[in-house]
Amino acid sequence: MSAEGRSVSILGVTGSIGQSTMLVIEELRAQGVDIPVQAVCAGRNVDALADACRRMRPRFAALADETLLEEARAALAGLDIEVAAGASALVEAAARPADWVMSAIVGAAGLAPTMAAVRRGALVALANKECLVCAGPLMLAAAAASGARLLPVDSEHNAIFQVLTHPQRVDKLTLTASGGPFRTSSQEAMAAAKPEQACAHPNWSMGAKISVDSATLMNKGLELIEAAYLFDKPEHQVDVLIHPQSIVHSLVHYQDGSVLAQLSAPDMRTPIAYALAWPDRAGISSPRLDLATIANLSFETPDEDRFPALRLAREAFRAGPSRVAALNAANEVAVADFLAGRIGFLDIARITGETIAHLEGAEAGLIAKTPSSFDEVAAVDQAARHAARRIAVSLAAA
Ligand code: NAD
Ligand code: MG
Repeated sequence: MSAEGRSVSILGVTGSIGQSTMLVIEELRAQGVDIPVQAVCAGRNVDALADACRRMRPRFAALADETLLEEARAALAGLDIEVAAGASALVEAAARPADWVMSAIVGAAGLAPTMAAVRRGALVALANKECLVCAGPLMLAAAAASGARLLPVDSEHNAIFQVLTHPQRVDKLTLTASGGPFRTSSQEAMAAAKPEQACAHPNWSMGAKISVDSATLMNKGLELIEAAYLFDKPEHQVDVLIHPQSIVHSLVHYQDGSVLAQLSAPDMRTPIAYALAWPDRAGISSPRLDLATIANLSFETPDEDRFPALRLAREAFRAGPSRVAALNAANEVAVADFLAGRIGFLDIARITGETIAHLEGAEAGLIAKTPSSFDEVAAVDQAARHAARRIAVSLAAA
């Protein structure tokens, strides 16, 4: 099976990953590959959704924001596309019978739609790491039950997936990280950093939330958890290496001393095309790698004192799935507050750490329990968001 004839849906079609996915589909269609699109969905950008619908020609389009339904219907009039809005419409988009679903909504908001695709046994191209991070064991169990296949799109996990030839013979996995825009910045500079500086990633062009996560290294913390779940490894068998050029996308160390890595220019079309054509490969026009011009690839150990988010993520994973869900939710709140200019850059990790510490005291029962249902995940998520907002308000007032 290749991309030929594969029907697809794109969740989060208006975002950075959604746009790259459309470019890959358009390029393959121009080569004569038939890729029918079942459904697309987005948060609240009607114009961008309408543009995606004109290009992809889905049967169904959904917006998260219900108040925009009439506006969306007007924007899509004449295209013969069913339009809906609200949380159930996002789930409906994922539940439509596409062979392959791109999960690229940002944050835990992507969990319910992604689960709708997982439950019906689809090939799920997983860009949205937060949904796996906050409900890993439940999502993996549901995939095992339905036969759904999670195809990692996150560049590091896609790299590992490409070179994981002998899963039983793995010593360890190494995730590479660019180090973000503040890799060499002083504490003072980080304390004063503005959202536009945090979002100015040196190598990748991405949505605002993941750009901030890359600057704090929480992105790598979430990815460490994502890798541990996807590849069924304990946290101590996943390490992180700073690699400022973002050419080596991750490495698998085998028990015979061999290390396999996947290299490519930093362009998300490459992992997206791999996931779309899997288990085949597609030909696309992403930039070719010219190692002679790049000349040097460098590596260094991450500094967990300057970037405490990485340590927080590791500790949360060791402590169990509820801590991880709380970490993710608190980080989402803190990043949104930072982007809105309400708190400083260094407050992001501080709020996340203080939220977990607070819950360990005030909600000890909730946070110690391994969630046995998505409702229990939602309860931890809500408790963490509530605590994080309170802590953020008191920090902003201080
Ligand atoms: P983005 O902000 O550019 O796009 C997010 C998409 O989600 C948009 O379509 C938006 O409309 C939609 N959305 C936002 N809130 C929503 C809600 N409440 N309900 C429904 N839809 C909502 O983000 P992105 O950079 O494309 O990242 C998407 C996901 O992919 C994230 O989880 C991110 O961590 C992951 N990812 C991104 C990259 C990258 O290069 N951009 C790389 C690896 C992983
Ligand atoms: Mg990544």
